[in-house]
Amino acid sequence: MFLAKRFVAGTTITDAVNAVQRLNDAGMTATLDFLGEDITRRDEAERTHAAYSEIITALARSGVRTNLSVKMTALGLHVDTDLAQRLLDSIIAEASTLQDPFVRIDMERSSDVSATLQAFRTAYAKSQNVGPVLQAYLRRTPDDVEAMIDLGARVRLCKGAYDERPEVAHTEKATIRREYLRLAEALLSRGKYPAIATHDPGLIESISRLTQERGISRDAFEFQMLYGVRPSLQRLLVSQGYRVRIYVPFGTHWVGYFRRRISERRANAFFALSALFSR
Ligand SMILES: Cc1cc2nc3c(=O)[nH]c(=O)nc-3n(C[C@H](O)[C@H](O)[C@H](O)COP(=O)(O)OP(=O)(O)OC[C@H]3O[C@@H](n4cnc5c(N)ncnc54)[C@H](O)[C@@H]3O)c2cc1C
Repeated sequence: MFLAKRFVAGTTITDAVNAVQRLNDAGMTATLDFLGEDITRRDEAERTHAAYSEIITALARSGVRTNLSVKMTALGLHVDTDLAQRLLDSIIAEASTLQDPFVRIDMERSSDVSATLQAFRTAYAKSQNVGPVLQAYLRRTPDDVEAMIDLGARVRLCKGAYDERPEVAHTEKATIRREYLRLAEALLSRGKYPAIATHDPGLIESISRLTQERGISRDAFEFQMLYGVRPSLQRLLVSQGYRVRIYVPFGTHWVGYFRRRISERRANAFFALSALFSR
């Protein structure tokens, strides 16, 4: 766990609430993710749900400013889609009493996107306190962005974190950035309160400029970044009057999440190795 410490808020709910409190004190909100994914048994899915119930109880007591992020494969999407839907619906219903009742459904591999968006649509028909993530690298995403704009759903836009085949995803960095900007522009001008999830300084600058030119208010969207990534940029955006929400993962199942963060940046591999030797 000590290796993952930079990117993971800790293992317990108390660790997570304390991390959110620190972010709130620095002018940021959060979205809490109980780590876990790709579960293969029903009881593991039920355990994920139980963990979220506990988190919701703790949040109701603590008064910190955060909402929740969940992964459908942690709720059993690969085991039984009906079970995963029931557990998702239940989390959304339980969270409805919170100060911020919004539940974000993270997006995973391209092979899970259709089922995840279907789960989102089913949940959204019952409660609008739920929104999906769309990944700019996927070739299908322009259509999904339009569908979500038509639906009035709140979208988090990210580049995409999984290794995907060129048939389904753009792989060139410059193309992904260009797609991101195009999709962000559509969401900012026609969508509902989009979340611009990136640490890419060039994109953030382009998006700031675009919103100023179009007269889009700083309350009409939020920037989102990951816990432990570019904290100085996070603080800078707050000081400029932007809304900033930090994705705060916690729990003991940190390996998959940590591996994605390491593979995003070579320097992180050196950081992890040096942590190993300097312990
Ligand atoms: C709030 C949030 C939620 C997300 N949710 C999802 C999701 O549901 N599904 C999904 O597939 N992906 C998700 N992602 C991950 C996303 O898809 C990218 O993999 C990740 O954000 C890196 O892309 P980037 O836009 O920051 O740009 P990059 O070009 O990768 O990074 C730009 C700069 O940011 C910094 N940086 C980026 N990543 C790291 C890192 N790991 N460590 C240190 N510095 C880094 C570096 O300075 C880098 O030069 C999420 C990202 C954020 C911020």
